[in-house]
Amino acid sequence: QTQTETKAFQAEVKQLLQLMIHSLYSNKEIFLRELVSNASDACDKLRYEALANPSLFENDPELGLRILLDAEAKTITIADNGIGMTKEEAIAHLGTIAKSGTKEFFSALTGDAQKDANLIGQFGVGFYSSFIVADKVTVRSRKAGAPANEGVEWVSAGEGEYTVADIDHPGRGTEVTLHLRAEQEDLLNGWKLREILRKYSDHIALPIRMAQEKWDEDAKAMKPTGEEETVNQASALWARPKSDVTEEEYKAFYQHVAHDYQEPLTWVHAKVEGRQEYTQLLYVPSQAPFDLWDRNARHGIKLYVKRVFIMDDAEQLMPTYMRFVRGVVDVADLPLNVSREILQESKDIEQIRSGCTKRVLGLLEELAENNVEKYTTFWNQFGQLLKEGVGEDQANQARIAKLLRFATTNTDSPEQNVSLTEYVSRMKPGQDKIYYVTAETFQGAKNSPHLEIFRKKGIEVLLLSDRVDEWVVSHLRDFDGKSLQSVAKGGLDLGELEDASEKQARAEAESSAKDLVERLQKALGEKLKEVRVTHRLTDSPACLVADEHDPGANLQRMLKMMGQ
Ligand code: ADP
Ligand code: MG
Repeated sequence: QTQTETKAFQAEVKQLLQLMIHSLYSNKEIFLRELVSNASDACDKLRYEALANPSLFENDPELGLRILLDAEAKTITIADNGIGMTKEEAIAHLGTIAKSGTKEFFSALTGDAQKDANLIGQFGVGFYSSFIVADKVTVRSRKAGAPANEGVEWVSAGEGEYTVADIDHPGRGTEVTLHLRAEQEDLLNGWKLREILRKYSDHIALPIRMAQEKWDEDAKAMKPTGEEETVNQASALWARPKSDVTEEEYKAFYQHVAHDYQEPLTWVHAKVEGRQEYTQLLYVPSQAPFDLWDRNARHGIKLYVKRVFIMDDAEQLMPTYMRFVRGVVDVADLPLNVSREILQESKDIEQIRSGCTKRVLGLLEELAENNVEKYTTFWNQFGQLLKEGVGEDQANQARIAKLLRFATTNTDSPEQNVSLTEYVSRMKPGQDKIYYVTAETFQGAKNSPHLEIFRKKGIEVLLLSDRVDEWVVSHLRDFDGKSLQSVAKGGLDLGELEDASEKQARAEAESSAKDLVERLQKALGEKLKEVRVTHRLTDSPACLVADEHDPGANLQRMLKMMGQ
């Protein structure tokens, strides 16, 4: 006897559903993209699991999707013969949000519909977008390999509750049936659905089938012919020649692989030949996801071997600091049963990672050169990650350094838009160092007393106040042959920047202050290493400096915070 259980959505789901229905109304077509994307993912997962266990195909190895319209019942059904779901999985995946960054997402909501729509888009609504057009959604599914009587039926009106029941479901995979809201009945139109599919889902590598329709002159309407037809291109987009793929297709594919519904900032698509043969289609998003700062968050590269999906989040294919990159790498000769452990140790993969890294650096260099506006967007979203790369990726350090942007005393604005190349081009005659100051906040850096002498002499200083900046300056020793020098460290030697009379004045000041220095040294004793006459101040009477080889004050504070 079938038993139906009623369950409550996780509180966040309920909240998301309400928000979404209102704010994504004008963008309602995305429901189809999301459901097709899930069905395609489900087929990819089955294909992968079947590599180790071919019996999962159950004599039905042709993976694909089917879209059915029922004008009388006013329903649209998206069906796949992919991996399917058990009852437990349906409860876990369709009743809760397990995504990382969920908390941050909810705390970022403002109540302003426009702004929230944007955030919801970034967060990704996935399956729940069904409720934009449906007032009832039925999901019927059976997991690949499970017996026919272990199917599940999940039903909800999107209002706080759903039911689950055990059902017989001979066919493997999932059917999602949308009972359309009265005002959405115009979607019950094969022509219109084809148009939406072509717009958003043409790149899906599996066939999407629909009932074929022909114009019936007597009925003056489209009538089903009884045949089925494939309505998308059904070829892996990245395997097609570049000249064959339109900008729109690239963008739609990005939204599928990145689970992001904004447009990408830029991308690169290349086929690499040689010792390692592989295709890369790599995207830079236009906005950072909610979990970007989590170094363990999922990475965005899908690994394929000869068109066969192998895994999501193949973190071995990109260095950690490039975790903002999304896309696909399709390798020609790797075993299909390759595991994460094997990837970890593979020299071939190391080479591919190095190739992908260089490709992204090239893409960013091109952007920095040809499209400052887009590069600024990139920098504001992901610049901190490139700063991580300065220490993480020694081999490419010089290239990364060129891509860095800083706030400086040139404008005293917190906006990070000065490159080291630009800094060097503005250096004073005789200046042989790149000067910087670090502080916990931008204001702290800008108002540092260490800057007084530099301001007086018109020497530009980098104002560093990101947490990762100490890491940058501890790894980046020089740029273009000029060493980086903290204005707060050691005896400040301005070298050629000081003229003869200043040198003399300094010597005189030092000898006349000798007594005072000795007295201070005695009074402060162990608390200090050394008391020195300084020339770095013009207005303040005194300041603390770190010794040349000691960690800077800011780094000391960080180490202390970390309990070191
Ligand atoms: P996402 O696709 O980003 O994971 P969704 O909200 O679109 O988020 O889907 C939630 C989860 O529900 C999926 O991760 C998957 O586990 C499950 N799911 C959705 N649709 C299907 C399907 N057609 N077949 C199997 N599992 C599915
Ligand atoms: Mg999805």
